[in-house]
Amino acid sequence: MSVKYIFITGGVVSSLGKGITAASIGLLLESRELKIAMLKLDPYLNVDPGTMNPFQHGEVYVTDDGAETDLDLGHYYRYTHSPLSKASNSTSGQIYDQVIKKERKGDYLGKTVQVIPHVTDEIKERINACSAQEKTTQIVIVEIGGTVGDIESLPFLEAIRQFRYERPKDCINIHLTYVPYLKAAGEVKTKPTQHSVQVLREIGIVPDLILCRCEQALTDEIKAKISLFCSVPQDAVIDEKDVAHSIYEVPIDLHAQRLDEMICKSLGLKTKNPDLSAWEKMVYAALHPKKKVVIGIVGKYMDHQDAYKSVFESLHHAAIKAGVGLEIRRFESDRIVENGSVEKAIQGCDGYLVPGGFGERGWEGKILTARYCRENQIPYFGLCLGMQVMIVEFARHVLGLKNAHSTEVNPNTPDPVISMLSEQKKIQMLGGTMRLGAYPCEIKKGSLAHKAYGKTLVWERHRHRYEFNNQYKQAFEEKGMLFSGTLEKEHLCEISEIPSHPWMLGVQFHPEFKSKPLAAHPLFADFIASTLLEKRAAPPKKKLMTNA
Ligand code: GLN
Repeated sequence: MSVKYIFITGGVVSSLGKGITAASIGLLLESRELKIAMLKLDPYLNVDPGTMNPFQHGEVYVTDDGAETDLDLGHYYRYTHSPLSKASNSTSGQIYDQVIKKERKGDYLGKTVQVIPHVTDEIKERINACSAQEKTTQIVIVEIGGTVGDIESLPFLEAIRQFRYERPKDCINIHLTYVPYLKAAGEVKTKPTQHSVQVLREIGIVPDLILCRCEQALTDEIKAKISLFCSVPQDAVIDEKDVAHSIYEVPIDLHAQRLDEMICKSLGLKTKNPDLSAWEKMVYAALHPKKKVVIGIVGKYMDHQDAYKSVFESLHHAAIKAGVGLEIRRFESDRIVENGSVEKAIQGCDGYLVPGGFGERGWEGKILTARYCRENQIPYFGLCLGMQVMIVEFARHVLGLKNAHSTEVNPNTPDPVISMLSEQKKIQMLGGTMRLGAYPCEIKKGSLAHKAYGKTLVWERHRHRYEFNNQYKQAFEEKGMLFSGTLEKEHLCEISEIPSHPWMLGVQFHPEFKSKPLAAHPLFADFIASTLLEKRAAPPKKKLMTNA
């Protein structure tokens, strides 16, 4: 069987949840035992999102092979088993960069280098490269970023038009659009969808299926209208209404409208009956929690929906596993300092998490959070920067090194307990030059990390430049910190924990990139479980372990 391709475009507005839709389609096809691969094509000119501010782009998702990619790959990871690597995300920046490199090498000698065919050929090569990652791949799902009608996405749309023209039997197009309900008119409006499909048709793309994002299920009358104006059969107009509680409901809703059946039919695929039982069980558990856990996240991009996407999702997975509901309270770390009292600012949560981050802003609020948790025996989970904060706080208030810091914030600190690796010091360019991707981490037996993972060797993904400074290791250990995970080959500290505390642990890596709703990450699972321990030691009257 030749490889089949599903192209997903978006219409009318951005933020419709194209990534979740693409991932849901992947999940539904996998439930029929099809082997899929997923690709995100992003029209912006950055080579990757690694250099973008999280306020602009949201989270940067890192793959095992160290690619800094679009956050939609996080959805692909959580919903599917698609291979995810550098071949799973391409941007206009990468594509133009490659075309220009080829031109300089003389590969196009004599020719005028143009968007068609040179840029479009490069895009088609990326689609083929994604498909070639694994020999067993049967279906490639290609999500085109941006909205139809944008200038930027035109080369991508032209490329997928050509791709289908060259393999008419192997491709389908799915258009995800928005069908708004106008309160004043008391009606659902199909006109934006008609226009969006018209724009696609001008380019030469005719959608086979139209998915309509909407608040409420669409009536048959509305579906008939979209069908007539957009030339798709009525049963190929599918509504993707807002889900009540969990984004993990989306595949179930789409399956109920026979989306996967229609995709298979359009592509001429005969498959096994779908088995969604494990997923359905998980969604049921997510919707029927027994009690509730409240987790405070202290970061500096809290107002952005997507800046800590994988962290939020990982907490949800752990809560689902524990059978509890999850309330996340967001705290801007800056405001904790402004407030004057950390207790007043953040109290009332069962545990706190400090996620990754860069730069000076927000540091001191995070330090206050780590201290509050350490002294009051409240569970604390530090991710990447969150571990560095935990180390600096311990240095200042337990080791008495009042001016200890990370050299990222204070290059002249007398006690650089977090400092840059010597190999990083030589680096001039910002893009793609951090310590990136999967590295092995050896875990000390008997530690909290060992209890959580249940093994002594794990692989976790990294994205950072600074590390714990081993010159201080002995001093930390003497005062009660345990370095329970290390990258032995390079003597780097990967996990720190405080054994005398109920649950205070920091990791230099990003476990949030490897958690799935059906397989919660062990550290997140143990963190949430720790917040449920009823007999947690009562907060001490006096501050603990503090000599500052
Ligand atoms: N800014 C820190 C570093 O580069 C932490 C990075 C992160 O949290 N991802 O080491």
